[in-house]
Amino acid sequence: MGRFEGRVAVITGAARGIGFATATRFAEEGASVAVIDLDEEAAAAAAARLAPVDGASAIGVGADVSDAGSVAAALARVVGELGGLHVLVNNAGITRDNLLFKMSEDDWDLVLGVHLKGAFLMSKAAQEHFVAQRYGKILNLSSTSALGNRGQANYSAAKMGVQGFTRTLGIELGPFGINVNAIAPGFIATEMTDATAARLGIELEEFRRLNAEANPVRRVGRPEDIAAAAAFLCSDEASYITGQTLYVDGGATLG
Ligand code: NAD
Repeated sequence: MGRFEGRVAVITGAARGIGFATATRFAEEGASVAVIDLDEEAAAAAAARLAPVDGASAIGVGADVSDAGSVAAALARVVGELGGLHVLVNNAGITRDNLLFKMSEDDWDLVLGVHLKGAFLMSKAAQEHFVAQRYGKILNLSSTSALGNRGQANYSAAKMGVQGFTRTLGIELGPFGINVNAIAPGFIATEMTDATAARLGIELEEFRRLNAEANPVRRVGRPEDIAAAAAFLCSDEASYITGQTLYVDGGATLG
């Protein structure tokens, strides 16, 4: 029996990358999955690529997690179409990297808006259902960049903010049967890191090789590495774990 049989999972930013790998894993383990992403067509196309088990289903919903009205409408649709809500993965993300002196106010607002305000809005809307049913799982995507990364003052602040947010929700929601945790990935090969290579003017294979050498396991991460940890943290096997941030980074932050 899959760990998510009978559960409905919402995963933001799931049209590709880590979010899509997580949606795939959750669907394989029995969940009905709502793929949320900015573009409705991309979200629907991703949902159509999932293979839900018998009795489960998958839908794609276009929504902007940094917009309260969009979030409310998206969750209402998910609950209406999939019949409930049990797991929320706040994965949607963007980067707008620049050194501080070149970073615009827009770069700051956009990144904080998607990662931090987005996680806040989604979690606030989801907790209504979770508290009422005395069950829920929230998983937030942090990053090793939370510990500091040149050119990412906005992203780093957002990702460390996510860790504080996770701890606080762990305290507030634990008594209602809700677990709240975070994963801080290291370098994962996705379009997000491909774009970083392009911005730095480094050839993609070389960029990945350098990042592989920068951690003890000597490879870059795959979206499936994060999906596996996400599945564990959102499962009932992890019901005594809350408020934690799990670094899934090949040991890159060990020093
Ligand atoms: P990605 O760029 O491949 O995918 C991100 C998805 O989020 C995209 O489909 C995008 O359309 C969606 N999105 C962006 N803004 C949105 C919004 N306002 N509303 C809804 N959807 C939105 O990125 P990824 O590499 O898969 O990263 C996923 C998460 O993991 C992000 O939070 C990222 O910060 C985090 N992360 C990634 C890495 C890595 O190395 N790739 C490392 C650490 C943390």
